Amino acid sequence: MQTDELHTRLRESGLRATRQRSAVFGLLRDAGGHHSVDDLVGLLAESGDPLSRMTVYNVVSDLTGAGLLMQADVGPGRALYEASETWHHHFVCRSCGIVIDVPCARSTKPCLETPPGLDLSVDEAQVIYRGLCPACRAGAHPLEERSSERHT
Ligand SMILES: [Zn+2]
Ligand SMILES: [Zn+2]
Repeated sequence: MQTDELHTRLRESGLRATRQRSAVFGLLRDAGGHHSVDDLVGLLAESGDPLSRMTVYNVVSDLTGAGLLMQADVGPGRALYEASETWHHHFVCRSCGIVIDVPCARSTKPCLETPPGLDLSVDEAQVIYRGLCPACRAGAHPLEERSSERHT
């Protein structure tokens, strides 16, 4: 993604287009996938544009608040961030920990009905799917229960 385009996206979301925000947003757009703050600090250093961990925390927090990044709910552990335009859920492999995007069956929030009898107004329901990824299923875990596979 070009710097101009990054700046435009930041401004459209109501953020000032700082160099740090462009660097982090551009990196997540280009790299794809799900990254922790520590990953991002490492990747930025490798790319010759090092930022402190505190700066990266602040930037992902601003970008997430503005709707440019999604915080991927993958259970306990490090928070993961991604630049995604589409609301979706996540599969986490019990064996290797890989995170795979799962399209939302309803594609709009909230994705699940609120159980009856609860006086809650729910605007978002994140689902974490767990099981074995194809690589682990094919490998050393023949006795593990198989995750249900759906072919569409
Ligand atoms: Zn796996
Ligand atoms: Zn994702």
